[in-house]
Amino acid sequence: MLNIVIFGPPGAGKGTQASLVAKKYNLRHLSSGDLLRLERENGELGDKIKKYQDSGQLVPDQLIIKLIKAAVLKKSSTAGIVFDGYPRNIKQASSLKKLFQEKREEIDVVINLKLSAEKAAQRILLRGQTSGRSDDNKKVILNRFRVYKSQTAPLLEYYQNQGKIVNIDGSLDVETVFNKIQSAITSLDTVNKKPHI
Ligand code: AMP
Repeated sequence: MLNIVIFGPPGAGKGTQASLVAKKYNLRHLSSGDLLRLERENGELGDKIKKYQDSGQLVPDQLIIKLIKAAVLKKSSTAGIVFDGYPRNIKQASSLKKLFQEKREEIDVVINLKLSAEKAAQRILLRGQTSGRSDDNKKVILNRFRVYKSQTAPLLEYYQNQGKIVNIDGSLDVETVFNKIQSAITSLDTVNKKPHI
């Protein structure tokens, strides 16, 4: 099994890269933002989720942890999972670790897409013209960055300590970033491969 986290600030290209990775390696693409947006339209929790998303705040841990857990435990014929937008804080990360330990699996690598706040904001504003997302606007972007810095960025150290981070310049074009991600996954294979006798 191959389990990957695509990490980075809002606008870094997590969704785009996660979907390319999922296709290439036959992985399930789990986007916590999409899960929540779906729940927001269909579920009873809609109004609550809308309030958090529209202000750029993280939804309460227990809510997203429950959704992710159900999704991870769902039977699937894929070769693993690529996470996009999850985990967003230490509590979510340790709950994910526990969940995978129970499955005798682990997060193999965390791809950190690095992007300056200025470039990311430019991209999100551009995306906002077509995405229809109520949080892709100037006011909410600022808050999403603040939340990223204070709650999500500390995860970098958490995963660094576990030797799982691969840093990639997220300002490069989509294809170049994807090539670099593929190299990271390939070297993972090489490291993990047991010598044949
Ligand atoms: P995204 O689609 O990843 O940009 O997420 C959009 C919004 O969904 C965020 O600003 C949060 O309100 C919410 N969200 C997405 N993922 C999470 C998460 N892992 N934990 C809490 N809230 C989340």
